[in-house]
Amino acid sequence: MHNNYVYIKIPSLSTNESFARAAVAAFCSSLDPTIEELSDIKTAVSEAVTNAIIHGYEDAVGNVEIQCRIKGQMVEIIVEDFGLGIVNVDMAREPLYTTKPELERSGMGFAVMETFMDELVVLSEKDVGTKVIMRKTIGSKK
Ligand code: ATP
Ligand code: MG
Repeated sequence: MHNNYVYIKIPSLSTNESFARAAVAAFCSSLDPTIEELSDIKTAVSEAVTNAIIHGYEDAVGNVEIQCRIKGQMVEIIVEDFGLGIVNVDMAREPLYTTKPELERSGMGFAVMETFMDELVVLSEKDVGTKVIMRKTIGSKK
């Protein structure tokens, strides 16, 4: 069986968040996920793309790149921006940590991604950008 992939490049407009979530979900449907697995993936993608839009670029508009890859029963989703970056990734990943409390952010995005996916890797550099890598194996629960 061939491994499958799709690349999506969108401007960081909030209207594109729902598109990204639906596009990744549609791509993953070939793995025959349960409704719960699909919902987990959608939620995680939504958090990562929202972060790229509101934190990565703030009021500016830049590119958000989403790569989605299927290897066997595993799906790997990479959400990347080329914006402000994160100075301290370990701190940013702590539940309830947010730099935007005034926007009623709860600081739970990374915690949600970590809960709903099997693996979460966050690579970031200040003023260079942020790359979030998420992996999940579909059909692993008996
Ligand atoms: P919530 O996701 O609950 O609405 P939040 O976005 O602040 O709140 P997280 O998603 O956990 O919480 O992110 C934690 C912090 O990490 C953010 O407040 C922000 O400072 C930083 N951050 C996350 N993603 C990015 C990104 N793509 N670029 C720059 N900073 C980011
Ligand atoms: Mg967030």
